[in-house]
Amino acid sequence: MIGTGQRGRNMAIRTKLVAGNWKMNGLREDGAALARALRDHAAAAGGKPGCEVLVCPPATLLSTVGGVLAGSGIALGGQDCHAAPKGAYTGDISAEMLADLGCTYVILGHSERRHGHGETNAVVRGKVAGAWRAGLVAILCVGETQAQRQAGEAVEIVSSQLAVSIPDAVTAASLVVAYEPVWAIGTGLTATIADIAGMHAEIRSRTPPGTRILYGGSVNPKNADAILGLPEVDGALVGGASLNADDFWAIMQSCPAR
Ligand code: PEP
Repeated sequence: MIGTGQRGRNMAIRTKLVAGNWKMNGLREDGAALARALRDHAAAAGGKPGCEVLVCPPATLLSTVGGVLAGSGIALGGQDCHAAPKGAYTGDISAEMLADLGCTYVILGHSERRHGHGETNAVVRGKVAGAWRAGLVAILCVGETQAQRQAGEAVEIVSSQLAVSIPDAVTAASLVVAYEPVWAIGTGLTATIADIAGMHAEIRSRTPPGTRILYGGSVNPKNADAILGLPEVDGALVGGASLNADDFWAIMQSCPAR
């Protein structure tokens, strides 16, 4: 992996990104209602919410949600993709299929895929390459378990996830890294501000200058100011709170202007 040591450079060009991971939630009417509420927030903000906004609904809702959000300025993303463009992979979805539905991003290597579906760093690398082949920006999730943090292995684990999961053709424009401590996802626990700043600096030293690095793990309107105010944090990957349009929009208001 690239080790530029160019920590903190290009900060001025890193537009903050707030991304909602809806996970496996919502039927069509729920997804349409949530998307309409977000579209109304975006319209009230004059189409300029102060950061880039992305929603990643379940695959079954991409068409519905994409239709509602068309022209709103809110981007659409997938939650996973297969490495191959097509073929005999029952139940899978290719990056090309996501792009065909209007997606510009895809979340890859989420801990729920790593731990629930046995995805290794090598598997994730193939998916990242697949995303790039289809012209999608890959949001690569990395993060340590509680046991690994307690054993003092957090930086080592995240470094090896980055080293193996990121193909050599990486550019700052094609990659977003989401630092998501596994123990903070969906638990109401968040990493300390010092731990977030420290890990983001580590990730920055191992990714191309200008790569956006998000924090994820129980981000909500109450803790968003402290997290998104950190200069090393370029946005948030939001799970639970993204299912409520007002909460999700309130998190965005915590993005300081750059
Ligand atoms: C996530 O799913 O990526 C996530 C960070 O979830 P939550 O915000 O619910 O912890």
